Amino acid sequence: MDTLVSAIDVAIPLHLHSTFHYLVPPELASEITTGKRVLVPFGRRRMVGLVLGPVESSGELKPVIALLDPEPLLTADELEFLRWASSYYLHPLGEVIRAALPAGLLSPPRSDEQGEALTNHRASIQHEPFFLITTGSEAHPRLGSRAQAIFGAITAAGELSRKELRRQFGEPGEQLKRLVELGLITREERELYRDPFREEVVLRDEELLLNEHQAAACDAVVAALHRKTFAPFLLHGVTGSGKTEVYLQTIARAMEIGKNALVLVPEIALTPQLVKRFRRRFTCGIAVLHSGLSTGERYDEWRRIRRGEVRIVIGARSAIFAPLANMGIIVVDEEHEPTYKQSEGFRYNARDLALVRGKRAHAVVILGSATPLLTSIQGAKEGKLTSLELPERVRGLPLPEIAVSDLRGRKGTTLSGLLLKALGQNLESGGQTLLFLNRRGFATYLVCGDCGHVFRCPNCSVTLTYHRKTERIVCHYCDYSLPAPTACPGCQGGGITFLGQGTERVEEELLERFPEARIARMDRDTTSGKGGHARILKGLEEGSTDILVGTQMIAKGHHFPGVTLVGVLAIDSILNFPDFRSGERAFQLLTQVMGRAGRGDNPGQVVVQSLMPEHYAIARALAHDSAGFYAEELLFRQEAGYPPFAHLAALHFSGNLEESVQRGAKEAVALLIRLRRSRGGRVEILGPVAAPLSKIRGRYRWQLLLKCRRRDTLHGLLKAFQDEWRPPTGIRSFIDVDPVEMM
Ligand code: ADP
Ligand code: ZN
Repeated sequence: MDTLVSAIDVAIPLHLHSTFHYLVPPELASEITTGKRVLVPFGRRRMVGLVLGPVESSGELKPVIALLDPEPLLTADELEFLRWASSYYLHPLGEVIRAALPAGLLSPPRSDEQGEALTNHRASIQHEPFFLITTGSEAHPRLGSRAQAIFGAITAAGELSRKELRRQFGEPGEQLKRLVELGLITREERELYRDPFREEVVLRDEELLLNEHQAAACDAVVAALHRKTFAPFLLHGVTGSGKTEVYLQTIARAMEIGKNALVLVPEIALTPQLVKRFRRRFTCGIAVLHSGLSTGERYDEWRRIRRGEVRIVIGARSAIFAPLANMGIIVVDEEHEPTYKQSEGFRYNARDLALVRGKRAHAVVILGSATPLLTSIQGAKEGKLTSLELPERVRGLPLPEIAVSDLRGRKGTTLSGLLLKALGQNLESGGQTLLFLNRRGFATYLVCGDCGHVFRCPNCSVTLTYHRKTERIVCHYCDYSLPAPTACPGCQGGGITFLGQGTERVEEELLERFPEARIARMDRDTTSGKGGHARILKGLEEGSTDILVGTQMIAKGHHFPGVTLVGVLAIDSILNFPDFRSGERAFQLLTQVMGRAGRGDNPGQVVVQSLMPEHYAIARALAHDSAGFYAEELLFRQEAGYPPFAHLAALHFSGNLEESVQRGAKEAVALLIRLRRSRGGRVEILGPVAAPLSKIRGRYRWQLLLKCRRRDTLHGLLKAFQDEWRPPTGIRSFIDVDPVEMM
């Protein structure tokens, strides 16, 4: 941008689909450039926005109040990527930019804040004084012995932080002040990075000798790296086949040719082992973006990346926006995980954006999973992704033995005889057990045996779950809770039955049956707070836990060689979800949970309890027959016209009055039909229908689904709809492009 620019385009984080023009005051003209933040007047407020670039000034414009950054926060290329995402997901650019930056950087100022104070707005930078030796300085004759010792230490090191001096000499304040006054040393404020992990001692490890499948996969990726063109791969490897080793070695090769790497994981708290393996292997700077970081710590990691101090970034979903330059390789580990989709606000999918970002950077992208998305399997078939297969476990370890416990006619059984027997034997032989159940709490359904009254949440269309530890019944959607009832509020009767089992009940039953066993539970109730996950996983790793009961959390990519038995208590409920992906989900979850067994020297065993063991998703998973599952599922998707054979978008409507929500949704359909007629193109409009969860937090929810074989046709219609659509008063609506969850 040259100094003659007099007006700029600014993105403001508001739910508005336009950007805004401002006048540049002459004194700021040379400093305001693309990617920096500015404070601007907006209506009667002041907002923080991001400069998108110069514009032809037209009409009366308000001037920028202040410039907030000395250096751009985003490069032009990063901004282009965000613009693409904004347009693809039909979400306002200002909000997209806010989501991509560390929290707080684009927050509106509080009324008492001045422009200058916003420079390090909210996400504060911590400083630490350093003391440097002044050139040519020699010890002063009038120094006390303590000051001389301190001066000596600084001379020897060239520079020392106050923290270090304090460690060596106790509080050195007075002596330092004197040394500065005498001109022997100078004081300099340096920015400090907060990183709770960096202090950990890390044992180095070395590259493993790859087996033939791993070697072939690495060779293919490395060849693509050297071509320096976009190359997307699907690394489809059974559980325990050594996918992580392939990531590590291909990233090492990328480093050798001066390229950097981004590694996306579903949830950092659940993958401490993966992070540890990276820290052991690489000596270069690694940034780990995890949910346990405070806002300040996150900002620090972001700045380390921005300044090129790290070469590897590991993080969950939002790390796809990390300001890493010179990208050579992007890994999306467990690419099938639904957590890659952001489910509120800016609803992007990091797995999909990894492909977009990789393409822009001419990088290699590896989508890795034991249970890839149907979309990826089809993508590989069509040659959009290069398929790399690891069909065997490392070191020739066998996949676990599977036994099925048919629960038909035995509804209400928590632990079947078969599972109990296997549990007892495994305990005796010193093996560890994982038990999977996808519901937390004690009982998920309370009903009065006398009058049939069911305990429901008053704000949401769900039943309340009884938690024994807190003696309360709780809504898992809005956190509404009541003390556990002793009498029915309807008939005053005392015959309340606790139905439906959660992890808490399983834990209690285990304690009764195996009093000598060391039992732990991992779900949202036991992992709140910093380090909650790590503590529980450590118990398993160190062998101080015999049985771990848990929800989905225990299914995620963990590698515990001591686990020789996995029990799946209930998987069927997933299949009852009104979602075309329920078969895919059940297959993935079951395969992943089973895959935790037998990863060490002792073979693994799996017991699966099910009410519908013949369902194809379950039967194929039990038979380790992923090819069969994918073939069958693809056929179903093709016949029904669902992804990967069609593109989807969902429109959601909510409000406090059910009738007006329904009316709003119907108006939207009418508009869509009119637009479709005038634009042409075959977009199927399904609905409106009440959402499966028809009420949450007092708001009624309706939705409709758009389906189309052509992405551009669908996008065009959505764009036209967005331009014209004004939801009726009291109704909120949003568009979800490529929805993953339709509850
Ligand atoms: P996946 O990610 O496919 O589930 P991992 O990468 O976690 O599998 O590998 C499982 C275990 O096998 C790890 O302990 C890993 O160190 C080990 N491993 C991986 N590759 C090899 C190899 N080529 N030789 C020996 N051990 C290996
Ligand atoms: Zn509720």
